[in-house]
Amino acid sequence: MAALRRLQPHFLLFIVTNQPGVSIGEVTMANVQRVNDHVVSRLREAGIEIVAVYCCPHQRSDDCACIKPKPFFMEQAAREHGVDLARSFTVGDHPHDVHLAHNAGATGIFVLTGHGEKHRDELGADDIVAKDIEEAADIILSRRNQRSHATTH
Ligand SMILES: [Zn+2]
Repeated sequence: MAALRRLQPHFLLFIVTNQPGVSIGEVTMANVQRVNDHVVSRLREAGIEIVAVYCCPHQRSDDCACIKPKPFFMEQAAREHGVDLARSFTVGDHPHDVHLAHNAGATGIFVLTGHGEKHRDELGADDIVAKDIEEAADIILSRRNQRSHATTH
């Protein structure tokens, strides 16, 4: 949370998430929303404001418009919240979080925490890798003349 607290003064913070369990009937959208609401309220208690949570409820074989790494939700954030994608970042532990940034014209940072270590081989040589979200925040802040930020998980 310290990383998000450092980023917040300079960026709008978003969560972009794929929840294919909804499509296969494993969880309901209401379940997902409850979990998201819980995350957002915990962060709010810690002084971190998430502007929006964007959730794709489909599985890849549904061929929807919104699944990561399609830039659908980042483009929505740009429209709805005036986010400048060229000056935005994604942070995530799956290659599709980095590809999401590429597809939206933003900068992706891959973190090795969570699933990150497992997927490291799937990254390109030029992709930015951070050991955790704290280091991702360091990288972002060192490059910042940016105002907007998308965070993913
Ligand atoms: Zn979708």
